[in-house]
Amino acid sequence: MKFETRILHQTNKQTRTIKSKITPIYQTTAFTFNDLDELEGYYQGNGNYLYSRVGNPNTDELGEAVARLEEAPAGVASSSGLSAILAGILAVVKSGDHIVAADDLYGGSFHLITGELADLGVEVTVVPFSDLEKVEAAIQKHTKLLYTESITNPTLRVENLEAVVHLARKYSLTTLVDNTFATPYHCKPYTKGIDLVVHSATKYIGGHSDVTAGVLVGNEALIEKATAKIVNLGTNLSPFEAWLTCRGIKTLALRMKAQSANARKLAEALREHSFIKQVYYPFEHGEDGYGAIVTIELQETVDINGFFRQLSWVKIAPTLAGVQTIVTHPLTTSHRALPKKAQEELGITMGLVRISVGIEAEEDIINVFTQALENA
Ligand SMILES: *Cc1c(COP(=O)(O)O)cnc(C)c1O
Repeated sequence: MKFETRILHQTNKQTRTIKSKITPIYQTTAFTFNDLDELEGYYQGNGNYLYSRVGNPNTDELGEAVARLEEAPAGVASSSGLSAILAGILAVVKSGDHIVAADDLYGGSFHLITGELADLGVEVTVVPFSDLEKVEAAIQKHTKLLYTESITNPTLRVENLEAVVHLARKYSLTTLVDNTFATPYHCKPYTKGIDLVVHSATKYIGGHSDVTAGVLVGNEALIEKATAKIVNLGTNLSPFEAWLTCRGIKTLALRMKAQSANARKLAEALREHSFIKQVYYPFEHGEDGYGAIVTIELQETVDINGFFRQLSWVKIAPTLAGVQTIVTHPLTTSHRALPKKAQEELGITMGLVRISVGIEAEEDIINVFTQALENA
């Protein structure tokens, strides 16, 4: 079956007795047992549930659904993208181990590894993955993990996953890839040999800007370890959030198709514009678009705040991926805490605007941006 079909027919968790069309919300903290045999059955793996922090049909449905779409054997949901990343990392590294990570990781992930994990005794080296010789040079005896993103933020560098896998295998390292921006609609890192694939389901997997959630997928053994971290750290997802996310998944293919096509058209239109210095978009990765984020750099002569004020129905919001087009200003939000030198190296300038393109009509999206440029 094609991706568009599987998304609808392989992602629903079947209920055993009452055959509801859609999985009900198991909004319960725990599950009941009639006797000790039934309880023992749970521990023997008969498929029942015990306690929602340990496992719940709705959170399982989400983990399994994303695993199927990524074509990975197993998956687990958690309370946020960041907690899914944490679980994935802790499934592989412990105090004293070393991680080599990309220097253009999502800001929250960067703080997690260089702040919290460093405090716990995990060593981290951050290098540009655009130069794999630098990555190789950073690998040490105690290195366990290579960590990068399939499409980076906000300058939309597309990672060479095959080369990362090749390097990891040479040194027997585990690989973790954040696939939030690309989604399995465009890219399936597990099928290219990446061990762990993580999503901020808050973004395209959920798709409607109404739920914070994360999902991690990979092989059974690694997902079992990561699940133990989620259970023991208490970073499980609530049943309702999982249910909402599964509801969002059903339209993932439709949304990605429309949003990516709109993004490419917008990027093409703005590329020609004289008030724009630079447009970042992975044009070479697909004629129908590759992802729905477009990042633009305005000419220094354009009043940046005036531009934001002229955007009428397009609002500033510090997130991405919803069905409505929104904009962010990386310098003063997501990349605010970075040292000036790192901001410069990553191209995070005052004139940089990240556009998360939605499902509105293509001409309305192009008009709102070109008019704001004229009026700013
Ligand atoms: C948003 C985001 C995260 C963090 O996800 P949360 O759900 O906010 O915890 C991680 N990686 C990427 C690429 C993101 O965009």
